[in-house]
Amino acid sequence: MTGGAGGDGLLVVGVDIGNSTTEACVATVGERGTDYLGTALTRTTGVKGTPDNTEGAVAAVRRAFDDARRARPGLGSAPHVVLLNEATPVISGLAMETISETIITESTMIGHNPTTPGGSGIGVGTTVAIDALSGARGPTIVVVPPGRDFDDVAAEINDATDRGVEVVAAVLAHDDAVLVVNRLHAAIPVVDEVGAVEKVPLGMDAAVEVADPGRTVRTLSDSYGLASVFGLDPDQTRQVSPVARALTGNRSAVVVRTPSGDVTDRRIPVGTLTLAGAGKTLHVDVDAGAEEIMTTLARVQPLQDATGEGGTHVGGMLAQIRDTMTDVTGRPASEIRIRDVLAVDTVVPSEVQGGLAGEVSPERAVALAAMVRTSRSRMQVVADRVAHELGCRSEIGGVEGEMAVRGALTTPGTAVPIAVLDLGGGSTDAALLDRDGACSAVHVAGAGELVTKLISSELGLDDRDVAESVKRHPLARVESFFHVRHEDGTVQFFADPLPPHVFARVVVMTPDGPAPVPTRRSVEHVRAVRREAKRKVFAVNALRALRQVAPGGSLRLLDFVVLLGGSALDFEVPDLIADVLAPHGVVCGTGNVHGTEGPRNAVASGLVDAWARR
Ligand code: ADP
Ligand code: MG
Repeated sequence: MTGGAGGDGLLVVGVDIGNSTTEACVATVGERGTDYLGTALTRTTGVKGTPDNTEGAVAAVRRAFDDARRARPGLGSAPHVVLLNEATPVISGLAMETISETIITESTMIGHNPTTPGGSGIGVGTTVAIDALSGARGPTIVVVPPGRDFDDVAAEINDATDRGVEVVAAVLAHDDAVLVVNRLHAAIPVVDEVGAVEKVPLGMDAAVEVADPGRTVRTLSDSYGLASVFGLDPDQTRQVSPVARALTGNRSAVVVRTPSGDVTDRRIPVGTLTLAGAGKTLHVDVDAGAEEIMTTLARVQPLQDATGEGGTHVGGMLAQIRDTMTDVTGRPASEIRIRDVLAVDTVVPSEVQGGLAGEVSPERAVALAAMVRTSRSRMQVVADRVAHELGCRSEIGGVEGEMAVRGALTTPGTAVPIAVLDLGGGSTDAALLDRDGACSAVHVAGAGELVTKLISSELGLDDRDVAESVKRHPLARVESFFHVRHEDGTVQFFADPLPPHVFARVVVMTPDGPAPVPTRRSVEHVRAVRREAKRKVFAVNALRALRQVAPGGSLRLLDFVVLLGGSALDFEVPDLIADVLAPHGVVCGTGNVHGTEGPRNAVASGLVDAWARR
């Protein structure tokens, strides 16, 4: 068939190019109304609003034809028109910086997690090299350099003990703590796999603690525990508290007290963020935290630009975001205006400077999502290229927000007035269609990508795909080859044995089975990080976005809110948003476009609908 005014109408395709996903919807539009035939989605190619989007758009159209069981364009059928969304040129960028840092000058601690330390308990004494054991006096902690055989080490310690040396603990370079402990006459705590053992200062007061299997150290990870062990005064206790923090969660730890040992918990000046609104300009210290930044932002609304002090972290973060925008829009950085920011407090495990075994300490950090509005979108270029590739007309069919509302209205049970929240990858968008047909829309920075990034950095995953999987799937712990315990406490049994690589691991329950999460943290910890990340982004942004479209800024005047977009598919985000809206008397539910597509495809369908009405 052709795209002419045939008996069953014109073939019209809507294409929504988002930050993450490109969606298409094929329909016939005729006198008897609109029939939706098929939909498809694919990854957006290139940055939203740039000519690179063409490839993804064309792929989405072709697949939507497959889904509609029609011959692909050019191979027997030709769409009458392909409609693209006018991406309100909002592009979002992300940046993250640490704002506190633990520095330990004079190596004073070793707190790593060798898989198999030996013995258990705590030993407090003076550090002595194994070769100097004969001259040791009083409680002694033996330090063993690399290259020693475990049999010899055990024999030397036993000899010393027999001669009356009080050996209370040992620190080894190699992974042989258990082998040594098994050969000792008296059990002592032994920490092994200390790579930089030669840097352990000798002749100093030190403490070695090893917890029983499945437990973590209790004394050295507690500020007052350290104070008791080393007889510290309140000032010194405050000084060593970062050491305690860095050792938390480890099964074994060593702390050596060097006289000049200096531990500082340094705050890094992140810089000042300048928020320029229509009426006033305010400055806020980024150290002050997300809440302070967001309160200040609320006071300057509407934001016209945000800048960071040169030479500071925040300056660097915003410059980085602006650079990306320059690439996208082809306009100089000086012409790019930041129209919204979302600041989120986060905690990142960072390696402690001065540690001996890659110790990490949870450091405060702030993540910023920023959104830019440019005066010109290059969507027309994409439309021209799509037209060329598919050999049909292609034009810009409407503005995203309005189209999303129209698409949302195909959800059974919805009616005007209606508000939608489009939870995408880069931005959270709200739109309102009132009884008179007037539509208003806003975009705020931060959505699914920021959630993934927070999960990745807070858990130290360093892998976007793993973080994305942690975001999307519930957790479990594999307790035996035949059963897992889900994060809600329920147990599931399997008829076939689970693969060995997931045994005793925290896993995500993907549709393809359990996949290990590379972390030593518990299911509870990972779950808490995941839920907090979603709350920090979506609870905050749902309220921010809806307040801007609600009549008079009052959420009470919104009756129904329909959730759309990829993040509305999340297994806990819709509940979380319903919870924050409930106190305002707002009913909120997940969209089901055409009664079949779930929260997806609203903009693409809305484009078709808007065209049909014209
Ligand atoms: P955009 O309109 O910006 O292209 P989408 O509406 O496609 O964005 O949403 C993309 C976001 O949705 C991504 O952050 C992705 O992680 C998230 N997402 C997609 N599917 C799921 C899912 N099943 N659970 C949770 N998040 C999801
Ligand atoms: Mg979208």
